[in-house]
Amino acid sequence: MPRSLWGWGDAGQALELEPLARRVRPFFGELEVENEAGLRVPKPRVGIPSELAAFASSEERDRAAHCWGKGYPDRLRGFRGDFSAAPDFVARPRDEAEVSSVLEIAEREELCVVPFGGGSSVVRGVECVLGPKQRGAVSMDLERLDRVLEIDDVSRAARIQAGVFGPALEQQLGAFTLRHFPQSFEYSTLGGWIVTRAGGHFATVTTHIDELVESVRMLTPRGLWQTRRLPATGAGPDAVRLVCGSEGTLGVVTEAWMRIRKRPQHRAGASVHFEDWNQAVAATRAVAQSGLNPANCRLLDPAEVMVNEVAPDGSAVLVLGFESDEYDVQPWLERALKLCAAGRVEQKAAAAWRESFLKGPYLQDAMIRLGVLADTFETACTWSAFPKLYEAVTEALREHAMLSCRFTHVYPDGPAPYFTFITNAKKGGELEQWAELKQRATDAVLNAGGTVTHHHAVGRTHKDGWSRERPEPYARALGAMKRELDPAGVLNPGVLL
Ligand SMILES: Cc1cc2nc3c(=O)[nH]c(=O)nc-3n(C[C@H](O)[C@H](O)[C@H](O)COP(=O)(O)OP(=O)(O)OC[C@H]3O[C@@H](n4cnc5c(N)ncnc54)[C@H](O)[C@@H]3O)c2cc1C
Repeated sequence: MPRSLWGWGDAGQALELEPLARRVRPFFGELEVENEAGLRVPKPRVGIPSELAAFASSEERDRAAHCWGKGYPDRLRGFRGDFSAAPDFVARPRDEAEVSSVLEIAEREELCVVPFGGGSSVVRGVECVLGPKQRGAVSMDLERLDRVLEIDDVSRAARIQAGVFGPALEQQLGAFTLRHFPQSFEYSTLGGWIVTRAGGHFATVTTHIDELVESVRMLTPRGLWQTRRLPATGAGPDAVRLVCGSEGTLGVVTEAWMRIRKRPQHRAGASVHFEDWNQAVAATRAVAQSGLNPANCRLLDPAEVMVNEVAPDGSAVLVLGFESDEYDVQPWLERALKLCAAGRVEQKAAAAWRESFLKGPYLQDAMIRLGVLADTFETACTWSAFPKLYEAVTEALREHAMLSCRFTHVYPDGPAPYFTFITNAKKGGELEQWAELKQRATDAVLNAGGTVTHHHAVGRTHKDGWSRERPEPYARALGAMKRELDPAGVLNPGVLL
């Protein structure tokens, strides 16, 4: 079954609508099912330059598949058949020489280049928006750079090409694992994770992919950015960290040495139910500050528990998990549970939560078919700022949508709250409705001291919000770096800057 052009993943895995409609009817009333519209893809503005012809395509479905990411507005547009931002052609370089020739020819032909990993961006990161004076757009799909090239089992690191998808990467690592499992794992790539600073499986310590990058190789329009393999260095602003978060605006990441580990052999987990949300937050903070560093530490508020059918009793639930390839982690779990004495321990909720987490990416598609607007946003703030932030976000959206919250990651100094909002879509006006809800959420988060994103990246969607939180001289310095590495502005115009 081919991948859906607008929805998540394999079209054959779409959720059944009737059971979902029954579940959401009490909140949203009778829902009408809408069918997917036929494709509308504009004609290419430019042809494929002869030097790229051996590895490029301008086939209509291929261009449509590289048009949008997977945010709510992207999926809705695709569902309605609108592929108006499709690239003029898709290039699939087989090696670094072909990556370089795409960059060179794009500069010569006045085209923009949008690197494309899995296309799971939710911040308009893969959309082809032309810069001034550009005549057309190339989507550079890195799927052919899909191999683990070397494993250094002494240092526990692997040299991996950027275009490899999560499952193929894990399969090639054999006895080792990267253990970076974002919810989008199945349809996202190593290169995409690195440049968006993705957040993965570990709820504490190694939360972002940044921690796992030992060295990186990025081709810029003005030369190769290759860092040395080092466990750490104290020399200057970190050349690896400058690539993490660059979102395809400075260069194309072709490979990286990544820190890997043995697959875990020992696991221990439990879930703790709390009648009182504030007690649940306090217990989660105590665990985050204890130095026990659980692999999983996800706190769900009562609405999140209800929406995901994790428990029927209106409680907040903390899902805890420890793992190791070396030692029994049961004692760690027991110590963490002592910090959660205000709650009651149950085993069932963790499995229900996992099931719902895995189905999550397909849920938004089904909601779109049913005329329900559902989306998420995430942030991070200090523990001291959290109560006000939670209140401010709730207040900003209360009259407009159903809202739920979970902590995806936690740090000794604060949580990363992740919110879901769901409401009846206003047919024909969904994009404006979504933009208004998103703006309300962004304002509430920023005014309460949070960040515009914890792990979904900036892209185009969060650009204005990000400009409100970053230092102005930093923004100018980033602009100068962009002008130095990509003076013609070929790469991802309008993303980040
Ligand atoms: C259902 C769902 C669940 C998600 N869950 C998570 C989650 O748990 N954690 C999380 O962090 N994010 C999550 N995301 C967001 C998204 O999956 C991440 O941002 C992911 O890192 C993007 O990877 P990708 O390979 O799909 O990149 P793409 O979406 O293809 O690209 C993202 C950006 O990176 C650039 N880019 C891609 N590859 C390269 C490269 N090799 N070199 C230079 N630039 C490049 C693109 O131009 C674009 O700007 C989720 C998204 C969805 C739809």
